[in-house]
Amino acid sequence: GMQLVMTAKRILEKLESSGFEAYMVGGCVRDMLLNRPLHDIDICTSARPEEVISLFERTVPTGLKHGTVTVVEDDVPFEVTTFRTEEGYSDYRRPDRVQFVDSLKQDLSRRDFTINAMALDRFDRLYDYFGGRRDLERQVIRTVGEPRERFAEDALRMFRAIRFSGQLGFSVGEKVLSAIRIHRRLLEKVARERITHEFQKLLQAPYVEQGLRLLWSSGITRDVSPFHYLHKGLREILSFSIQALTERERWVLLLYHMDEQYRASFLHALRLPKAFVKEIKRLLRHLEHYEHVIDVEDIPAYDLIRLGEEDFVSLLKLNQLMLNRSVATDLRQQIRTVLDNLPIRHPQELCVNGKDLQLFRKRSPGPWIQEELDRLVKAVVEGKVPNEREAIRAFVMEDEKHE
Ligand code: ATP
Ligand code: MG
Repeated sequence: GMQLVMTAKRILEKLESSGFEAYMVGGCVRDMLLNRPLHDIDICTSARPEEVISLFERTVPTGLKHGTVTVVEDDVPFEVTTFRTEEGYSDYRRPDRVQFVDSLKQDLSRRDFTINAMALDRFDRLYDYFGGRRDLERQVIRTVGEPRERFAEDALRMFRAIRFSGQLGFSVGEKVLSAIRIHRRLLEKVARERITHEFQKLLQAPYVEQGLRLLWSSGITRDVSPFHYLHKGLREILSFSIQALTERERWVLLLYHMDEQYRASFLHALRLPKAFVKEIKRLLRHLEHYEHVIDVEDIPAYDLIRLGEEDFVSLLKLNQLMLNRSVATDLRQQIRTVLDNLPIRHPQELCVNGKDLQLFRKRSPGPWIQEELDRLVKAVVEGKVPNEREAIRAFVMEDEKHE
């Protein structure tokens, strides 16, 4: 954190010594004031993009149209953006054009929320024209200017208000909430990737329940696609304490409470990465297969190693939450203890493979190999044969005699 700020300040100094204004701005200022960890520092400046490019050794023209140049210092990228405003959101998605402006205040006034509209100079002086610091203290999310106007300009801001509420545990102002109620349907016009990005951040957030409650109370889950798929299940979901769940477990919980016929549509609408969707679907299958199973002992050892530790933890966690309303604190330890006492912890640890089986049996390859491997894994896990090559060979041959 400290090092990052030092490096950012060197960039500010360089811009200033060339006669420009430059500040740290937006989310990083908010997070510094809240003592939250910093992941990046954005910089705004009176310098034009071409001037920024000529001043620094390593730059990337990331968003010239929007006035953004990435400056790389100490191998860390910093987005340096020329003071600008945005005009004309005719499609509720993105500004038709950006306009460079002269003052920091104008730049800050285009930003979404007061807590995101502060700047800090290299002497740690705070520039707070819209009451951002007061709102941080009061823990409330307010827009810069009239919420109804700002949400009509860019509908994504409604979702961002809810996401920040979930991240910070802040409430949204009464005017913000009623403006979301009025404009919520505009969210359907926002580019899906942008919405998905915000929703993912909400599902990672510590106060996720607060955010989900706002999706409900603002009417978004009632009639804004694709979040209307969540509506029916949400009342029950909100009766659980889901803080202890990981992000993927939270997704699974949401989907589990959705009518099966809608799950694919919901996932498809959000355009999530394929691998992630696969993971979610796999966990849903486990949940359905092991409905109501809450104890480690109630799952056969063979199934346990097929699931693997992570899925097994998630499965029991979700079932315990849904049935007992709380999760055993030592759940993972319980599972590890069981796994540690098994001869193998993973099917791949079986000491023979398909080639060995072909040799033993003198048979040409076919689907029988996988079946036989599964059967052997089961036998080893159940202690019917030790995980040793010779013993397994004997076990296989013994069997052959009976066939
Ligand atoms: P995070 O910690 O999630 O990155 P952030 O505040 O940095 O939070 P970003 O999405 O990275 O959020 O945006 C950076 C800054 O740009 C915000 O702090 C805000 O000032 C401004 N901003 C971002 N999106 C919008 C928007 N849709 N409308 C107005 N201002 C915005
Ligand atoms: Mg950011």
